[in-house]
Amino acid sequence: MFESHSRFHSANDKRRILVVEDEQINREILGFMLEASYDVCFAETGAEALRILDEDYQTLSLVLLDLNLPDMKGIDILHRIKGNGNTAVLPIIVMTADQNAEVECLSIGATDFISKPYPKQEIVLARIRRTIELFEDRDILHWTERDNLTGLYNSEFFYRYAIQIDSFHQDTPMDAIVLDINHFHMLNERFGNSFGNEALKRVAETLLAAVSDTNGIVSRKTADTFLIYCPHRTDYQSILDAACVELTADCHVRARMGVYSEVDRSIDIERRFDRAKRAADTVRNSYPSAIGFYDDTLHEKELFAEQLLEDFRTAIREKQFLVYYQPKFDIRSAEPVLHSAEALVRWKHSKLGLISPGIFIPLFEKNGFIRELDSYVWKETADRIRCWREKYGRSLPVSVNVSRIDLNDPPLLEMLESTVDEAGIAHRDFLLEITESAYTEDADLIINVVKTLREHGFTIEMDDFGTGYSSLNMITKLPIDTLKLDLQFIRTAFQGKKDTRTLEAVIGLAHSLGLATVAEGVETEEQLCVLKTLGCDIVQGYYFSKPLPPEAFEVFLQETKN
Ligand code: C2E
Ligand code: CA
Ligand code: CA
Repeated sequence: MFESHSRFHSANDKRRILVVEDEQINREILGFMLEASYDVCFAETGAEALRILDEDYQTLSLVLLDLNLPDMKGIDILHRIKGNGNTAVLPIIVMTADQNAEVECLSIGATDFISKPYPKQEIVLARIRRTIELFEDRDILHWTERDNLTGLYNSEFFYRYAIQIDSFHQDTPMDAIVLDINHFHMLNERFGNSFGNEALKRVAETLLAAVSDTNGIVSRKTADTFLIYCPHRTDYQSILDAACVELTADCHVRARMGVYSEVDRSIDIERRFDRAKRAADTVRNSYPSAIGFYDDTLHEKELFAEQLLEDFRTAIREKQFLVYYQPKFDIRSAEPVLHSAEALVRWKHSKLGLISPGIFIPLFEKNGFIRELDSYVWKETADRIRCWREKYGRSLPVSVNVSRIDLNDPPLLEMLESTVDEAGIAHRDFLLEITESAYTEDADLIINVVKTLREHGFTIEMDDFGTGYSSLNMITKLPIDTLKLDLQFIRTAFQGKKDTRTLEAVIGLAHSLGLATVAEGVETEEQLCVLKTLGCDIVQGYYFSKPLPPEAFEVFLQETKN
């Protein structure tokens, strides 16, 4: 049923008109004139009309409004309809015997008039048809309803359609499903864009076939993300299987699917799909294809995340974010020497206690708070560097983390410069750690930003090296000073059948490029000794110390004070 629709018709495929009229005889006449062509619903009072408008505005194509009602003036209803964002665009034809009211109604936004007593049926129908057509023509300008490539609904139209389905099938439990193709960009890279496009078309077709028997609707949201809204079902695997079409003899589409089943209709349609999307993300790294469900655990996580976001402003104001420092030691000479530190943020939440950055940083990266938090941490750190210089007579360089989100922010350079200048410290003492995956995501942009930062005297460490996908070849082209080997990279080298050859190769390459190497997450003496033999310059990890509050960190400065 739904597939053939291109406009918002009612369940019986007619446009729906609300007639607001208190006199029974008039309702009967209008009903008689209209019911063959339209789905007509009636309101006898202003209050009833407003209730229907409030609940069902998405399904209506027109309102026929009598100006004399027992409980409210028609003019007031007109005001209310035009003043409400949901109903303001609905066309309204006013029915009145009073010609003087016409000008006032027009100025409030009525579209047309039908005089009382009613003219002939053809005239009434013609006026109504023309008014609806005008409304839809204007409306359609905003809604290019289909996606050019696949012919599926685009997401805006899809959401509106889903709401309409809800209102016509209030008792049918519905599922919101998101399907993401895994590594779609690799398909494009490997076989070319037109191959990728063909793949998307095939997936669109099979998804449509998989859900249309139960009147589900399908949309393409972004390049390789599809949305499905369908009556509740249990055989989700068949939808996923349908999407995993064979492309060549040795290449299938792989996808992950998130299901939010039997949706709660009290939440926005878009949020229902956010939930399905989050469920899909829980199986992001599964191989080959998998389904994730939005369940209670995910719901609790979501509530927790919402609370953290809500509490952010208070936390900044009340200085609940604490900056800890973890020492980095230079291991090139016989005895390790304190070389620098890394600033790592913690949240001392008033109710939840100490929260680790692994939990809140990804949230803040998603919603943009990270910029504010990072600039707070940078300022604290710069002030700490100056404070230690005054207290211990030496400047200890400290690195701060620069999120990939900060890199897209044009005033980044000015912010860093003013932080450093206001604290009165040297650029060279303020080290910037930028994660490896930022470089692989948008290499050109990052390379330019990093170049500029270096030209202004900042030192750049590439963080988390070994977790992303940079080839060794790529680091030869990057404008950085230091390569920071990720903790997992170190761990893998020392795990099980110890194999430090890759580690050795990377350290060797870094040196040949004139880059220093920092190993992170060093926990044992064995790791330290091997890294030293391999020529690693600097080491950070629990072997020396966990990240510490500034006062506790000062023991390291006291030890090295000369
Ligand atoms: P990262 O930058 O890779 O930081 C290193 C993480 O490894 C820190 O976790 C540190 O406590 C931990 N670590 C250090 N040595 C060892 C070790 O020997 N063993 C083990 N098991 N872990 C070790 P932390 O402090 O929880 O930070 C997690 C991540 O949060 C950081 O990873 C960084 O990506 C992010 N982060 C922390 N502070 C900030 C910040 O101020 N701004 C931004 N944008 N990100 C931050
Ligand atoms: Ca770091
Ligand atoms: Ca790291």
